[in-house]
Amino acid sequence: MRLTSRLIRHGTLMSIALLGACARTTAPATSITPVAPSLGDTAAIRTLVGRLDLERYKATIKGLTQFGDRRQGTDRNRAAVDWIEAQLKSYGCTNTERLTYEYHPPTPPTPAEAAARADSAARFRARNPNAAQGGGRIRGMRTRTGVNNDSLRQPDPRLRALNSQPSTPGERQQVYCTKIGTTRPDEMYIVGAHMDGIGWGEAANDDGSGTALVMELARIFSSADVRTERSIRFVLWNNEETGLNGARAYVAQRQALQGQEEPAGSGRYPEPRWLGMIQHDMMMFDHGMPRPDSTVSKEQRPEADVNIEFQSNSKMASGSQQLAWILAYANEKFATDYPATVGQHMTNTDSTPFMDIVPAVSLRENERGAQIGAGWNPHWHQPTDLYSTFSDKDFRLGLNAAQTTLGALGQLAGATLKR
Ligand SMILES: [Zn+2]
Repeated sequence: MRLTSRLIRHGTLMSIALLGACARTTAPATSITPVAPSLGDTAAIRTLVGRLDLERYKATIKGLTQFGDRRQGTDRNRAAVDWIEAQLKSYGCTNTERLTYEYHPPTPPTPAEAAARADSAARFRARNPNAAQGGGRIRGMRTRTGVNNDSLRQPDPRLRALNSQPSTPGERQQVYCTKIGTTRPDEMYIVGAHMDGIGWGEAANDDGSGTALVMELARIFSSADVRTERSIRFVLWNNEETGLNGARAYVAQRQALQGQEEPAGSGRYPEPRWLGMIQHDMMMFDHGMPRPDSTVSKEQRPEADVNIEFQSNSKMASGSQQLAWILAYANEKFATDYPATVGQHMTNTDSTPFMDIVPAVSLRENERGAQIGAGWNPHWHQPTDLYSTFSDKDFRLGLNAAQTTLGALGQLAGATLKR
């Protein structure tokens, strides 16, 4: 009896030990199911992804740079909104609309207030020397970042003149168009990027690269032979650089209109119910960490990736991380060159005003807080954010983000091709 019992105990321990060994070396008993059953037709989605083209993507970015840095509250910004709207219409995304709002910059702090804020920021940095915006920690080398406000740092006189009109407070507009779903027109995904920029360059990467991506997706989904079950809205936000004011105005004006049929019985939904928000902001430059002398490699690093971020500290974190994984798996399936990585510190972009309401993610060249915030992109908000700064390897990273979002949206919205 004693012996037997000892053997049983021994056997049990053995089993647990073996289970532990197995858990480390073989597939776990359960696996995550990252992709909701696709509503779309994979072959059709593959065809649509194949319609993305590097030269077209580059041409759209080039087109945006004709308006310089497109700073909000200027004629060049308004001309860019007009141009974007005309392009969307020419793609067949004909139901363009504009959202109008007011922007008045906050009154600057008094010298005493400014000093108090700087002091409190310095004390925070002293206590948390490696804290990144949005959460997480900065590792390794870092360099100074900031916004260039000095026109004389733009050496090209043509571009200096183009960017010279200052911003004036007042009315603002941003444009969007919608692919209306056939069987679920009352549900939609919002796909966005910001068209305004700063820094006395051409805002080619921040955020011409995201704006062109969203415009290219609008072009492909609007093609006459494409059908989606759910609706998709393509939004080009304004006033991102001043504090996400365009996206905040959209949420303030339209959140309560979700899912309402107007007029009743018409089958038309001016604001379909939001299912998710996918933002694109700085898509092209992943050249690695700054070197000890503060310079950054001139070449795209071979291990460059698309960074898909959600915010773990948001009300919709669970749904947002699921959306992030759906995008990551779409990248594996559809993107030609660069992989995707998922992170939990989404911050400082137009998906932020959505993140407590609906699943929200951002796609970028790097992590916003720990990498871009540490100076990984030396052209960020600088006069060198020019079309001519970037190589085909850079443009191709943006194209791979487009393939990623297009693939995921094709599955989520249910894309098929009419025969
Ligand atoms: Zn940006």
